[in-house]
Amino acid sequence: MKYYIGFDLGGTKVVAAALDEKFNILSRSKEKAGADKGTDAVYEVICSVIKKACEEANIILDDVVAIGGCAPGLVCPKTGLVFDTPNLGFKNFPLRQKLEDDFKVPVIIENDVNAGLYGELKFGAAKGFENVIAISPGTGVGGGVVINGKPYRGSMGGAGEFGHIIVQPDGPLCGCGQRGCLETLSSRTAISMQLASFSIRGRIPMIAEAANGNLKKIKSGLIAKAYNSGNKDTKTIVHHAAKYLGVGMAGLVNCFNPEAVILGGGLIEALPEPFTSISAKVMREQAMGNMGDIPVKEAQLGDDAVIIGAAQLAKEAEA
Ligand SMILES: [Zn+2]
Repeated sequence: MKYYIGFDLGGTKVVAAALDEKFNILSRSKEKAGADKGTDAVYEVICSVIKKACEEANIILDDVVAIGGCAPGLVCPKTGLVFDTPNLGFKNFPLRQKLEDDFKVPVIIENDVNAGLYGELKFGAAKGFENVIAISPGTGVGGGVVINGKPYRGSMGGAGEFGHIIVQPDGPLCGCGQRGCLETLSSRTAISMQLASFSIRGRIPMIAEAANGNLKKIKSGLIAKAYNSGNKDTKTIVHHAAKYLGVGMAGLVNCFNPEAVILGGGLIEALPEPFTSISAKVMREQAMGNMGDIPVKEAQLGDDAVIIGAAQLAKEAEA
C-alpha cells in the first residue's frame, strides 16, 4: 500500500494529514508553528507533525511515497525554496531539500492558494474544469489560477496576488503601499475595520458587545451573525465588499477567460450569500462580452483543500 502526506504550513499552525492511494484522509495532526522560536524550530514542528500524522494513521514512514506541502507567500515550486513568508520569517529557506534529506522521499512545496485550488480542481468545487480562478477574501485576498488543468505560478511563483489589483484609485491605503487594492475593500480585515468603527459609534450593538472595538475579535462568524441579524450598517458594509470583489473578478475574467470562479476561505464559508450572488452580478455586468456568464462557486473542501491539493501534486510528481 502506498501512502501520501499533505501538510499545510500556515502563519500560526502546521497541519499534516496521511492519505491512502484513493486519497481518503486517514489522520490529521496539528501543532502551533512557533514562529517566534525561529525558522529551525518551525522546521522541527513540520517534521514532528508529519511523523504524528503517520503514527495516528498507523502507517510507517517507509510506506509514505511522497510528501506535498504548502506555505503561504512566495514559494518556488521548481526548487522548493520558500522565498518569503511574512509571518514565519522564512527567507530563501530550502524546505523541500531539507525534507527530502530527512524523509528520503520526493517532496513538492507549493503556494497555499494554488494547492487549495488544485485540491478543489481534483476533488471539489472545480472538478471537471480546465481553466479556473480562485479568490479567497480573508486577512488579505488570496488568489490562485489553473490554466489547462495545471496551476499557473508565474515566473517567480508569485502569480495570483489578486489582493493587490487596484480597483479604486485613491481608495484606502494598503499594506503594500498602494491605494485602493482589492484587499483594502473586500478582505475580512477591511470589513472588520469598518464594523469596528461603526460599533464604536454605537451603531452595531452586537459587534460592540462581542468585540468592544477589538479588531481581532471581529471574525467571520461574528460578521455573519451581525449580517444575519438584519443590522442595516453591517449589510451596507458587507454588500460594498462583495461588490468590489465582483469588480476584481470582472478584471480577472477579462485576463483569464476562465470557465468558473471559485470563492473560498472562512468569510465565504460564513456568508456564502450575499458574497456569491452580489459578486457574480457585478462580474457579469462588468466583464467584456459574455465572458462573465460563468458559474461562481463556493469552495467545497474547506481547510482540507490545501492538504489534498499539495498531496495530489506530490503524487503526480512522484508518478
Ligand atoms: Zn496592496
